[in-house]
Amino acid sequence: MRFNILTIFPDFFTGPFDHGVLSRAITTGLVEVATHDLRAFTHDRHRTVDDRPFGGGEGMVLKPQPIFECIEAFGADETTTIAPKSTRDTTRQSVILLSAQGRPFTQATAHRLAKMEQVVLICGRYEGVDERVSDLLADEELSIGDYVLSGGELAAAIIVDATVRLIPGVLGHADSNRYESFGVADHQPEDPDDGKTADGVPRSTHGAGGILDYPHYTRPADFRGTPIPDVLAGGDHAAIRHWRRQMALAKTLRNRPDLLARAPLTREDRAYLATLGYRPTS
Ligand code: SAM
Repeated sequence: MRFNILTIFPDFFTGPFDHGVLSRAITTGLVEVATHDLRAFTHDRHRTVDDRPFGGGEGMVLKPQPIFECIEAFGADETTTIAPKSTRDTTRQSVILLSAQGRPFTQATAHRLAKMEQVVLICGRYEGVDERVSDLLADEELSIGDYVLSGGELAAAIIVDATVRLIPGVLGHADSNRYESFGVADHQPEDPDDGKTADGVPRSTHGAGGILDYPHYTRPADFRGTPIPDVLAGGDHAAIRHWRRQMALAKTLRNRPDLLARAPLTREDRAYLATLGYRPTS
């Protein structure tokens, strides 16, 4: 898989991609990340990438021409060429404009992108990017949250990070990115066998299923007078799974109740949530 990042600050990415999982994935060749300096695709002596907005108003706008020419200059072989928007296979390639006006980037988006061969991330600056980039070049606009950043670079780094760790082989254990916050459901609602694993051993983060992860503890068992919950030291795997599920539900209710409306909940989940005062709206 290859990411192409278009930016006026290519050096921005030397830090974020040089550590841990991401750096390993790049070094081992599981993912390629290329940054492209938009100023290299300008034709004037000042290497101008922006201009004043038509209609007046504050600030400057990134011009479309360097962005189009940059993408058109990608390698001539099939693995790097980005097809024109009208013929692009958007299950294999996606051109994404980072924008506060975009659709929310979520774990589901990261899963979708992780299956692609090429993802192009266009980082805006100033007041934003000429709208013709969205209309004629980009497949989608993505936002990483309801706030305004000064540029798309941080958003691009976040999208690369969240996506790369979902590429098979990047994390040491295949289940690590499955049983975590927002993870895919491993059971259906009302499944009578909810929570059981074939070998009876609890998953590392069992049962996220669209909700938040449960609390984790490590050594020492007693830290400054606060012991770990008894159940975790008892060796009863079924009891541990049960407790983890309840803690994940409680944390989701506390911090992200909006997720509960969409999560596949069992009858037991709902009964437990009711004891915490949760009342589903529908
Ligand atoms: N005038 C724009 C608006 O009000 O929506 C804000 C432009 S912002 C200062 C400059 C650039 O930062 C944007 O073009 C975009 O690439 C990036 N950006 C800002 N907020 C973002 C967000 N929440 N998600 C993704 N990119 C963002």
